[in-house]
Amino acid sequence: MSEEHRIPGTPASGGHAFGAVHVYRRMRFNQAPVTIDPAEADAEIGRFRSACTDAMHELGRIAELAGSGGGDIITTHIEILRDPELRAGVESRIRSQHLAADSAVWGTFEQYLALMRGSGNPVFRERMVDLEDVRDRLLFRIRYDASQAVRLEGQILVADDCTPTELVEWARQGLKGLVLQGGGRTSHASIIARSLGIPKLVAASNALAGCTDGVPAIVDAETGWFVVNPSEATRTAYRERMAGYEAERARRLAIAGEPARTACGEPIVIRGNIEFEDELPAVRLHGAEGIGLLRTESFFLTPEGEGPDAQIRFYEAAVHACDPHPVTIRLFDVGGDKVLDNRVPEANPFLGWRGVRILLDRPELLRTQLHAIHTVAARHPGRLRIMIPMVADPGEVEAVRREWEAVAAGTGVRVPIGIMVETPAAAIEAAEYARISDFFSLGTNDLTQYTLAVDRGNPRLASRYPLAPTAVMRLVDMTVEAATAAGIEVAVCGELAADPESAAWLVGLGVRELSMAPASVPAVKEHLRRHTLADLQAAARNRF
Ligand code: PEP
Ligand code: MG
Repeated sequence: MSEEHRIPGTPASGGHAFGAVHVYRRMRFNQAPVTIDPAEADAEIGRFRSACTDAMHELGRIAELAGSGGGDIITTHIEILRDPELRAGVESRIRSQHLAADSAVWGTFEQYLALMRGSGNPVFRERMVDLEDVRDRLLFRIRYDASQAVRLEGQILVADDCTPTELVEWARQGLKGLVLQGGGRTSHASIIARSLGIPKLVAASNALAGCTDGVPAIVDAETGWFVVNPSEATRTAYRERMAGYEAERARRLAIAGEPARTACGEPIVIRGNIEFEDELPAVRLHGAEGIGLLRTESFFLTPEGEGPDAQIRFYEAAVHACDPHPVTIRLFDVGGDKVLDNRVPEANPFLGWRGVRILLDRPELLRTQLHAIHTVAARHPGRLRIMIPMVADPGEVEAVRREWEAVAAGTGVRVPIGIMVETPAAAIEAAEYARISDFFSLGTNDLTQYTLAVDRGNPRLASRYPLAPTAVMRLVDMTVEAATAAGIEVAVCGELAADPESAAWLVGLGVRELSMAPASVPAVKEHLRRHTLADLQAAARNRF
């Protein structure tokens, strides 16, 4: 494999990266066992035990969320984690065979799985799936012990797929570029890669087979190539391109702070979309005026959980990072692709139990979040707004508003509450929703997938998920019209807003607030400043 070869992929976060490959096979962890110095046994056992505790805590929270729907599976998983024989097996492998915690977990589970495989009993086969799931959960936890994590400084990670948490963790370890065989442009991991400025390719089929650990490679997330073992001529050409790209990036950052407006002076508000605390500095750096979409699902991915303290800390940090601009907090939108690695399986997660549906079935989650938001709002008057995700029925908004009224009455603070328009149902009935919403924010990522019936994360369907299909633009138009008639604000916070051409159409259709991955802000501002409102309106009308 010493010859240069190129693997095509779809750019999901722009830029170039040059580095050594690190192959990551999450679900195939059967590498040679890693041994440790016997003196490290206690520390390794500690890692294993804390992974068990974290996993049980996480499962407890999922069981609470799943209610009667998936509780049995989770109880089984918790029982496996508690099993004294299995735990003793792992610990004795660490102590007497001097294995690292992850290798000991792998070896112990493999011993049970081998027995089950050999038995031919179908009941055992089902139990194997549970065992594998618990094993992978533990391995995930052990691997993300930050003190032990692999350093990815300057490396290019090649994987099948990744979750948002993994990406944030890798970014902390210095990851330079990412190539995935699966994934999609609007998956959360892609959105975060753009925010953190990590060049990323998705849908790069056969990338894993095409490289090995340590080989040099280039991620070209501008034209969509993963170049493995680049020749000297290719390296020279890319060095020039990268220098040009960096110069362009620096130029854009230098003008990032300029006001957002059209050539004729029409002001446009441009805000950032944020999910993790690590992304907060990107808001100011890229000249965004606050946060138009603060995703809050990450609480379900961290051991601290979704309790009020962690939430209040995060919302406070967001308010400080955006001072003096506002922050729009979206209520938990768990489900779909939002919590990839620990959902109770559903046949159609994007059409399943997610967003406001979960919040209404689990009112304690909703109340905790509303309380946390109001606590921070009381300290920072006028700086927060609330947004309800995945609305498809006006009754859902009314039900959330009842809880919101109760919290507002109890705290004496009133935080404006609006909805995400991200289902065709909400767009079609926008006039109805405008009566019960303080504002709208169009979530075009989901609106596109639901309008076209195309899974936004399916790499096979990437070409069937265009940026601004006419059907979606019509729904946007209808929503803007209803909002304007009702006198409420309408923003767009889907990734459509991050594409300069599409942002221009949106402004032409009457949208005056756009929210996007912060890294996209300067290019959108620059594009809008080149056109008059009349040009943009004419261009938008030409779309229909
Ligand atoms: C959307 O659907 O457009 C959106 C902004 O929400 P998310 O990407 O979090 O689903
Ligand atoms: Mg959405």
